[in-house]
Amino acid sequence: MFDTAFLDLPALHAVRGTVRLPGSKSISNRVLLLAALCQGRTVVHDLLDADDTQVMLQALRQLGCGVAVEGTRAVIDGIGGRADRPRRADLFLGNAGTAMRPLAAALAVLGGDYTLRGVPRMHERPIGDLVDALQVLGCDVHYEGASGYPPLRIGEPKLRLDQPIAVRGDVSSQFLTALLLALPLAAGEQDIAIDVTGELVSKPYIDITLQLLGRFGVRVRCDGWRRFTIARGAAYQSPGEIHVEGDASSASYFIAAGALSADAGGLKIEGVGADSIQGDVRFVEAARLMGAHIDSGPNWLRARRGAWPLKAIDLDCNHIPDAAMTLAVMALYADGPCTLRNIASWRVKETDRIAALATELRKLGAQVDEGADFLRVTPPADTTAWRAASIHTYDDHRMAMCGALAAFNPAGLPVRIENPRCVGKTFPDYFETLFSLAMSAAAVPVICIDGPTASGKGTLAAAVARRLGYHYLDSGALYRLTGLAARARGLEPNATHETMLAKLARQLPTRFGEQGEVWLNGHDVTIAIRTEAAGADASRLSTLPTVRQALLDLQRQAARLPGLVTDGRDMGTVIFPAAQLKVYLTASADQRAERRHKQLLSKGISANIDSLRADLEERDMRDSTRTAAPLQAAPDALPLDNSTLSIDETVEQVLTWWQDRQPF
Ligand code: C5P
Repeated sequence: MFDTAFLDLPALHAVRGTVRLPGSKSISNRVLLLAALCQGRTVVHDLLDADDTQVMLQALRQLGCGVAVEGTRAVIDGIGGRADRPRRADLFLGNAGTAMRPLAAALAVLGGDYTLRGVPRMHERPIGDLVDALQVLGCDVHYEGASGYPPLRIGEPKLRLDQPIAVRGDVSSQFLTALLLALPLAAGEQDIAIDVTGELVSKPYIDITLQLLGRFGVRVRCDGWRRFTIARGAAYQSPGEIHVEGDASSASYFIAAGALSADAGGLKIEGVGADSIQGDVRFVEAARLMGAHIDSGPNWLRARRGAWPLKAIDLDCNHIPDAAMTLAVMALYADGPCTLRNIASWRVKETDRIAALATELRKLGAQVDEGADFLRVTPPADTTAWRAASIHTYDDHRMAMCGALAAFNPAGLPVRIENPRCVGKTFPDYFETLFSLAMSAAAVPVICIDGPTASGKGTLAAAVARRLGYHYLDSGALYRLTGLAARARGLEPNATHETMLAKLARQLPTRFGEQGEVWLNGHDVTIAIRTEAAGADASRLSTLPTVRQALLDLQRQAARLPGLVTDGRDMGTVIFPAAQLKVYLTASADQRAERRHKQLLSKGISANIDSLRADLEERDMRDSTRTAAPLQAAPDALPLDNSTLSIDETVEQVLTWWQDRQPF
């Protein structure tokens, strides 16, 4: 997951390959709660592993459930029928509406002493209609803060079930879902009826609820989406094992990417198919209306470009409330204004999504009109009307995910996504997944850092990469690895074996880890490549032209989306001559000697500072006069003398130069 302040997406051109979707948020959290309310054990497969399910799992632990999670498999031991369940808990539910609403209803019916709270935005999301219904039902539910909003305090109920229970359906379908999940707990001698007042929004989400209730042994009669009846004697029963479908709302971004892709092959999407129980799968129909070409089968979809530009639509989106945000961004690529209607519920989601999209799409060059329950997007008139924008994401995962689709703009402009971490709510690896499938419209951004030994270029490059969310290539490590591989074969790393060494370098069986780990032939050599001996071998190898040539492709392949920061000799001249930023980092010999001295001391190695400086100066001389890849600044490199700068100051300077080159 990208944990950076922002993430810059270079202009994207096409997508190709297969994406495996994470589990559906809506299904995951319903299944977890249902499993928790059962007697005995339920094994959940393909569970979503993201913020919203994490808060649910934590709540279930606090409520006394057995919870064992391994990746996407969870084993839940329910509290159904357990007299000894903890009756007191203070639950933090983040910004997960799918946890807050159903848990509030279930705990209010079960009774105990509970507090339910969340992040500040959660305390702005209305829950009054649900609380009203629960109070009429005889539940003890009170507001801890502002009336109508979480946090909530829940006590012991005195249930009255003889009358039908009325709940408003026109703000959020989650209130009805919450009651449907909770009331089977109270089913006894009589049927329980729930009457919906107002036009029920987001009906497909109620369908998911009814389907899952069925899987857990509870049948609900639905009369014209107005009255829902839970039969007397209803009781939850674990299905034993249950699989969670891929998230259909998450699928929308990849369906859109397929439709925007200039590559005819398109994208295969696995985890959701035409037979999905999720309403958002009907996004497929909306995308087809816009001209996308979509095939489907059991548990898969394939999307590619059809009509181009896309066709403008005027659509009631009430049935696909979450996925329709993706249509708003697709509208940027339409042949006329697109109107999305009946979307008032967007205003009470993770943020006011109508206002948020209006603001951000305008930044990209669209003209946008918004009303209480609609959004009209007029695309940029032509290529020159597009703007490079920094998309504010309002801590809303869907703003980040659909905002990324602006990177397919025909103007070839990059797009900045602020706080990319917010996708963690439902799709922590969203950007990694997109980057693994996408091709950039132009060369991937590259920053090269070179400079004399011990100038701190490796530290600087790694830090800049971390701040930008870019990949980092330590090219010296490749020479060190080649040296190690040579030694393992009993080869001296010198000119005698140049051909063999080059062959080794070309086929280095190496792998790099997230935390800077390095493997060679399956062995962890993270420490082994850092020894003085490995450095000396690398130094000798690096003067052999055929070895340098052999490592060229490997280094160029490291330029992957979203970008690369790399350090080492030749980087800005031979490997990436077109790099957008080149820095030549220097520091006085005194400073470098002092730094290396400290570094050695910290490793428990004693050294003499004067002889270190003499070594450095000698190495500078050797490096700058050698014939193969001598140490010299690329003509267009920016010099940076960090003798008197801290690491942070040095990093900031490079980031400032980089930012100066961005159009945002
Ligand atoms: O940076 P590091 O100390 O790991 O580099 C090991 C050796 O490889 C050094 O002698 C360095 O000059 C050489 N090298 C090179 N070209 C690069 C990276 C490192 O010649 N791009």
